[in-house]
Amino acid sequence: MPARENFHSVMRIGPVQIGTHRDRSGRTTYAAVCTADRCGWSADYSSQMAAQLAARTHRCHVR
Ligand SMILES: [Zn+2]
Repeated sequence: MPARENFHSVMRIGPVQIGTHRDRSGRTTYAAVCTADRCGWSADYSSQMAAQLAARTHRCHVR
């Protein structure tokens, strides 16, 4: 999993871990991080719903 400061895991959808972390301005941001080996996909979202949607629609190119 890529290093994210203050990452707090909230839930997992398939291989994708969803959690919160603080962005540079100190706001809580939701991040979706794929934990599959060699995938490396991750993205930040402003809401947990958006992160969940992205996690469900993420297509791992590593199988
Ligand atoms: Zn993936």
